Amino acid sequence: MVANPIKRPRPEPSPGSGPSGGIALWCRRFEDLCRQRGIRVTAQRMAVYQALAQDSTHPTADAIHARLRSGLSSLSPATVYRILEFLEREGLVRKVSTTEGAGRFDAKIGEHQHLVCRVCGSMVDFEPALPVRIELPKIGIRGFVAEDFDVRIVGTCRQCRSAPPQARRGGAGNNK
Ligand SMILES: [Zn+2]
Ligand SMILES: [Zn+2]
Repeated sequence: MVANPIKRPRPEPSPGSGPSGGIALWCRRFEDLCRQRGIRVTAQRMAVYQALAQDSTHPTADAIHARLRSGLSSLSPATVYRILEFLEREGLVRKVSTTEGAGRFDAKIGEHQHLVCRVCGSMVDFEPALPVRIELPKIGIRGFVAEDFDVRIVGTCRQCRSAPPQARRGGAGNNK
């Protein structure tokens, strides 16, 4: 018998792929992981996690806040952001790299990559991930310790390819 010392979270089903049953499963798994690690599952943390799991667009903290505003009016944007940052540090959600200023978040922590549209900014999960192998330096340069790397596949999504560029740009006004 070989003992298995490392307990990894099981690969999860995609939250976007199913109805609310999938989300409920994710939320249960989230609660389990929190308990295992001694992290308190507050109503606010649960609400933020659930809102993120329901949104497969890799939303910003602001977008999550907008989603929650009707139900939990007491949550400020700053609180939502703090909770997401906290969950990210604990490895319970993922922050995905973008070319925009605002960070975007992902409830899916299993290995996958992202298809990013350079026109509309949409970000779609791509899996199974391309087999990209990189030797991360153990002790980085100038004290930087590498922990992870992130692969984005950048291009133009189907919608943007079929729409004439002028039509997409005009009319929308300024995006703040
Ligand atoms: Zn697009
Ligand atoms: Zn993702």
